[in-house]
Parts: sequence; structure tokens; C-alpha cells
Amino acid sequence: MLKQGILKKFPHKNGITITQFMTYYSLNGKAKQVNFETAVRKGLAEDKGLYFPDHISALPKSFYDAIENLSPTEIGYHVIKQFVGDEIPENDLKIIISETLDFKFPVVSVEENVGSLELYHGPTLAFKDVGARFMARCLGYFNTSQKNTEKVTVLVATSGDTGGAVANGFYNVEGVNVVILYPSGKVSHIQEQQLTTLGGNIEAIEVDGTFDDCQAMVKKAFLDKDFKGKRNLTSANSINVARWLPQMFYFFLAYKQLKSLDKKLVFSVPSGNYGNICAGMMAQKLGLPISHFVAGTNENDIVPEYLKTGIYTAKPSVATISNAMDVGDPSNFIRIQKIHDNDDTTLKQHLSAYRYSDTETEDAMIQLYKTHNYIADPHGAIGYLALKKYQESNPDTYGVFLETAHPCKFLDVIPKSIVDAVNIPKSIKAIMDKEKKSTLLITYTELKEYLLK
Ligand SMILES: *Cc1c(COP(=O)(O)O)cnc(C)c1O
Repeated sequence: MLKQGILKKFPHKNGITITQFMTYYSLNGKAKQVNFETAVRKGLAEDKGLYFPDHISALPKSFYDAIENLSPTEIGYHVIKQFVGDEIPENDLKIIISETLDFKFPVVSVEENVGSLELYHGPTLAFKDVGARFMARCLGYFNTSQKNTEKVTVLVATSGDTGGAVANGFYNVEGVNVVILYPSGKVSHIQEQQLTTLGGNIEAIEVDGTFDDCQAMVKKAFLDKDFKGKRNLTSANSINVARWLPQMFYFFLAYKQLKSLDKKLVFSVPSGNYGNICAGMMAQKLGLPISHFVAGTNENDIVPEYLKTGIYTAKPSVATISNAMDVGDPSNFIRIQKIHDNDDTTLKQHLSAYRYSDTETEDAMIQLYKTHNYIADPHGAIGYLALKKYQESNPDTYGVFLETAHPCKFLDVIPKSIVDAVNIPKSIKAIMDKEKKSTLLITYTELKEYLLK
């Protein structure tokens, strides 16, 4: 249920301005409530729960009636302001949003009733640019607007895309250091260049191991009391509310482009940690008219299985060609359940989920190119497949699949018959020859020494 109007402003009660802020509580229920800034700085609550906003208010009809005339910044501002409250003044928040949304979000028609929402026109060619840029700028704002704030270290493990987006988003942000762990030899060449060539406040750690090893080291560091008072660690994955919530923006920007079609809208989201799709569900809570969500997954099919059986079974992740979705225990699924009042019947009305093998994904990439002259990356191709599956029984819909990364970032897994058709953007060519800087580590002890030195 939506609680309306809780964030209405009471500007001058008795002549005093009362600051309005959103409170966030932990979904584990054992940590105290915090404001937006604290939720951003901490990432995860002390009880290891994910933060969730205390209330969600739908946007007024007047907003939806006028959306075609609003700029991306104005749309973003209306969408996010209740979650930030007065902690960032209107003007500063609008600057943050305009810098975050500084590129295109086109819905490209692929075939009748199917469009691709291309989220890869940002600096690192992945949708994660939006969340990373917004979070970085919020932290930068808090660090420069206050005196004596301690430096924060953003510690993040990446299987490829998160690292580049975080490195780029946080580059040169005041008071923030970024340490990125990635599995040596297991990210694509372009992705590695994106993480290791910026320098400055961005440090890359190459771990002789798998992504799961990187993730385990990061988790261990967050729990390690020896950092207390020495280094403030925070996360920059979709657990962080400042990375998760701005992902609502592009669902609204897509709606702006599709509103005149006057059709039932379905969004199909290739999903790993389910942060992206969960942001779409928040957009729906704000009143965005989305009729259904579809999650596409690779062999890591925890959620499709859950919808089938009602039993949630986390599993070790399996390596696939859509490696940004190789997640065996999707961290945001708990938020999705919360959005649906922890009721499976409601959840199933809003969400369908399907899984695809690598072979099916490759076939879809080939078919999309041969039939529709469209090149999708492996993640987008899974979004496309899942959408088509849903539309088989729901043909009266307009479906949008999220194209979450540029295909050039996955050249090594694009089928040979179409790989030559992938164009390499200029911005990528420019970083290919830059010098790589990274530190090679194997154990947690080595990481800890590195961070404490
Ligand atoms: C991170 C990522 C995903 C998965 O997004 P989640 O929010 O983790 O579900 C899908 N595609 C690409 C290209 C990604 O980088």
C-alpha cells in the first residue's frame, strides 16, 4: 500500500524550517533507522540487512500528464526527491541528476511491438553508469558541503561491468578513494582497460582467483573490525540505495518516449542481482503505468525456480557468456519481495521469469541480427528472449527489453558470424592503448595489509 503525502513540506511551522528527510530501515529489522546520507555512506546496515525506504509516495497525475514536456533532469528530480528529502538542496540535486543523465536513453524499435531500451550510451557503455554516477556525486556533495568529514573508501568486487562504471563515476570525486577487485584474466580486455587505466583516486586490485573470491574478500573486509577508525569502507554495488534508486530514471525516460503508443507496457530486464528490475518495480510504485515485468536469466536461475516452486534456493554461481548475471544469490530479491508485501501471489501477478542457456543466447544474438539487423550483447539477448516468451501469451502488449551493455564489451562471446558487425565506439578505442596499473593479490591478508598501509 502507498502512504500518500508523508513527505509534504511543512516549511515554516512556527517560523522554523523543518527538515524533511526519508528514513531508511534495514530489512533485517535489527538496525536503527537512518537518513539518506547515512544509508549511502554505510551501504549495508549493521545487521547486514539492505536499507529500504520507510514510505513510498506515488507521483501526482499532473506529473504523468505533463511528462512529455519535462526534461530528463526535471523527471529525475520528481522521481528521486522523496528519497533524498531535504538532505541535498533542490539546485544541487538537479545538478547531480543532470550530470548523471548526461547521455541518451533511446528506445530503438526492433520489431513490431518490441523495442530495445539502450542503456549503453554512457561513459563505460553500461547501465551501471547511471547508478555509479549518481552515487558518486551524492557522496561528493556530502563530502564537500560538510567540514571535517572523513574520507570514504569504496570497496567493490566486479565481474566486469560494475568496476568500470564505478571507476569512471568516482574518478576525481572529492574525499573518496575507490578500490576495485577483479578476477585476473576473467574480465574482457575492454573492461580491464576501463578499470586499470584511470589512476588518481582509483586503484585496481587483480585477484588471482574467481569473481566469487573477490566478492568473498570484500564481504570479509566489511565485517572486519580492524578497519574501524582507520578506513571507512562502503560498497558501490546495487545494495547501496544511491546506486539502486536512480535506476528508476530510465524507466520513466522510456515511458516518456512510449506514452503516445497507448499500449500496455512490459519491461523485460536481464537480471543478476535484481537491482535494475527492482528499480523498475519502485518506478511502478510511484505510479508509472507498467503492466508487467519479465526477468531473463542465464543458467543462474534462482528466481525462475522460486516462482515455479515457491522455494528460494541460493546456489554457487555458474559461469556463462552473460557473466554480469552469474549470481547465485541475488541480493535485491528481498527488496522485490518487500515491494510486493512479501506476498507471492501479488509478486507473480507482476513478475514472470525465464532462464536461457548459452546456446539459446547465441542463437538469439544471431537471429536478432539476421532478421532485424540489431546487434544485442548476451545480456540484452536474454532480455529479448524472455520478452518474446511472455508476449506469446500476451500479444496485446508493447515490450521493451533493456539492452544493458554495448556488445563491444563482450566481443569474445559474440558469435563469429556476426562479430564483425559490432562497431567499436571512439571512446573505447582511445583507452585501448593506455597503460594498465594494477596490484596482484591472492589472499585476504594481503588485501587487508594493502588497505591498512
Ligand atoms: C549488472 C548487469 C546486469 C544485471 O543487473 P542486476 O541489477 O544485477 O540484475 C545485466 N547486464 C549487464 C550488462 C550488467 O552489467
